Amino acid sequence: MFIDLARIRAIGGTGGKGCCSFRRESFVPRGGPNGGDGGNGGDIIIVATSRLTTLGDLRFHSTWRGRPGAHGRGSDQHGKNARETVVHVPLGTMVRHDETGEILADLTEEDMCFIAAHGGKGGKGNARFASANNRVPRFAEKGEPGEDRYLRLELKTIAEVGLVGLPNAGKSTLLSMVSAATPKIADYPFTTLAPNLGVVSLDNYRRLTMADIPGIIEGAAEGKGLGHAFLRHIERTRVLLFLLDTGDEDPLETKAVLEKELAQHSPLFAERPRFFALNKIDITENRARLDALCKHFDNVFPISAATHEGVAELLEALWTAVERVRREEAEAETFEPEKEYVYEAPFSIEEESKGFRVEGKRILRAVRMTDFDNEEAIYHLHDILSKMGLFKSLKRLGAQPGQSIFIGDVELEYHPD
Ligand code: GDP
Ligand code: MG
Repeated sequence: MFIDLARIRAIGGTGGKGCCSFRRESFVPRGGPNGGDGGNGGDIIIVATSRLTTLGDLRFHSTWRGRPGAHGRGSDQHGKNARETVVHVPLGTMVRHDETGEILADLTEEDMCFIAAHGGKGGKGNARFASANNRVPRFAEKGEPGEDRYLRLELKTIAEVGLVGLPNAGKSTLLSMVSAATPKIADYPFTTLAPNLGVVSLDNYRRLTMADIPGIIEGAAEGKGLGHAFLRHIERTRVLLFLLDTGDEDPLETKAVLEKELAQHSPLFAERPRFFALNKIDITENRARLDALCKHFDNVFPISAATHEGVAELLEALWTAVERVRREEAEAETFEPEKEYVYEAPFSIEEESKGFRVEGKRILRAVRMTDFDNEEAIYHLHDILSKMGLFKSLKRLGAQPGQSIFIGDVELEYHPD
C-alpha cells in the first residue's frame, strides 16, 4: 500500500457584520431601525475527484481560509453569503480528526464531499432587535468567526494490478507508457528496487492502479530482500499480470520460475487471478512464435510495450477483472461513519478560583457576536444569557454579586437579575 498523508487547517469564513442604521426620509421624524444582517461566511469543503491521484498539492497549500460574508447595510440590505471554498482531493481520501484520529469521512466516490469547516453566521442587523420594549435598538451583532480545525487526510492506494516479470521483460516500459509514473527503464537488471506505482486512466474516469513489483524476482535472485512492508503491499494486489519477454528461450519455463518465486514469498498469490502479456511482439522473430506460444496460456495478450500494440485490449481485460474484485470487496465491507447524536445542553458551568467558567457552543456564539463597545449590545447579550437560564444556574451554584464569569475570551461580572 502506498500511503499519502497531509495535514490541513481549515478556517471557515467570518460572518459579515450586522448593520446598525435608521430610516431617514424627509418629513418623517425618527424613522425605525433598518440595518440589514451580515451574510454567512463561506464553508471549506473537501471534494473528491478522480482528476487527482495524490495529496501532494496539499503539502504546499495546507491552510485554507473561507471567504468572509458581506456586511449588512442600511435600508434593510442583507450582506451576501460567501461562496464556499473547495479543496480537491483524490478519490479514496479519508478524513480524520487530527487529534483523536477519528474517521470523519471516507470520500470514495466522485464529487463526494465533506464540510471541513463551517463558515460563521452573519450578525443580525438592528432591524431584528426592534421590539415593543425597544423600538430604537442602537446595536447590531458582529459576524461569527468561522470554525477552525485541523484535519488529517490519508490516501491509501492499493496497487490493484501487480506486475511480475523477469528483469528486462519490459515492466518499467509498460508502466511508464500506461500511466504517469516515471520508472527507470534500462537494459540491465536490478534497476528498480523501489516499487513504482502508476495510476492508469482508461476512458470515462475509469482508473486502475498498477505497480511494478521489482524485488520479488530481481532482488530475490541477488538476495536483496525488500522487507516485509513491501511484501505485504504486493500481497494486496488484486490481479497479477505476468509480463513475459516473447523472445525468452522458453516463456513457459519463465512463467514456471515466476510462479515458484511468488509461491515462496506468500501463499496468498495463488488466489489472485492471472493475466499473461507476451511482450516485445514488435520484433519480427517474436511475432513468428506467437501462435505456437499462445495456446499454452489462459488469459494471454500479445503486446508491445514499446509500440503500444495490444495494450488497450490488455487494459480492458484487467479493468474488468479489477472491477469484479472491487465489487466483491464493496459488498463485503461498507463503511459507516459512527455518529451518535447527543443532546447538547446550552452550557456547562465550572467553578474556578476567580469565578465561574461557562462553556457551550450556543453561549459562546452569542458572546462572540456581541459588540462590547456598544452598551445596548451588552444589554441584549444579558437578555440572551438570562433566557438560557445562565443566571439562575449561577445563583444555584452560589455565585456572589461581582464575581467573574468567563465565557470564551470574555470576562463578565455577575449581577443577579
Ligand atoms: P523491466 O526490467 O522489466 O522494468 O524492463 P524495462 O522496462 O526496463 O525494459 C527492458 C528493456 O526492454 C529496455 O531496453 C526496453 O526498451 C526494452 N523493451 C521494453 N518493452 C519493449 C517492447 O515492447 N519491444 C521492444 N523491442 N523492446 C522493449
Ligand atoms: Mg524495471
